[in-house]
Amino acid sequence: MSRFTVVGGSVTSLVENVQRQRLVLPIHVGTNGYVQNAGFTIRPVPALERGPMDGPRAIVLHRTDSSTAEGTMRSFARGVGTHFLVDKDGTVTQAASLLQKTAHVGKIQSRCRVDRVCPADEARMIEGWGWAPSRVHGHEKKKAYPARYPMNEDSVGIETVALFDRTSKQWERPTEDQSRSIARLIAILKNEYGLSDADIYEHDAISYKEPGEGAGLYDGGGATDGMPVRFSPPFF
Ligand SMILES: [Zn+2]
Repeated sequence: MSRFTVVGGSVTSLVENVQRQRLVLPIHVGTNGYVQNAGFTIRPVPALERGPMDGPRAIVLHRTDSSTAEGTMRSFARGVGTHFLVDKDGTVTQAASLLQKTAHVGKIQSRCRVDRVCPADEARMIEGWGWAPSRVHGHEKKKAYPARYPMNEDSVGIETVALFDRTSKQWERPTEDQSRSIARLIAILKNEYGLSDADIYEHDAISYKEPGEGAGLYDGGGATDGMPVRFSPPFF
């Protein structure tokens, strides 16, 4: 007597096969904090994740000052880096969960001072400190976003693979593929977290970095090169 029970063969009819449809899966952030169905490369780097993130309420744009994504992934393993990395060919790699903060912003400048809207006594106080990034950061971090610039605690970081020319002091322009991928990634994040273009920042404009590091990577609106400027999910 057989010890196995035959439970019946499953039948897949020809009709069902003919009727098989192509599924359009909506792009969204999964419960694990990783973007689903967008064609991103998922390569979690545990060293990047520094504890729960608030929001996220903003996006900070960076350039790597490297020529390859692999070199940047190796440096991410040392614990400093961003959630996303956009390679020269437009490939987007997600290296950290959007539930987790990563170390990518550093010390922030005083937003009200940059915008020239600080109350007079606060402006005088900050002025009196002179060059004091740590002190300014300590003062600013007590404020709530958007009264201050975004910090690691509440912002998504996007790195773009690009070199810095130390002679000309110029950053490499993004490739067309990079521009397209950055716009698409930003559109996904804006849609998921209810962010606007006012929540997108260039790293050097809010921190103490080489001028232009985050410039020219995103021109607002969320799309370029014939892509729809606005759309609702599911998209692409
Ligand atoms: Zn940066």
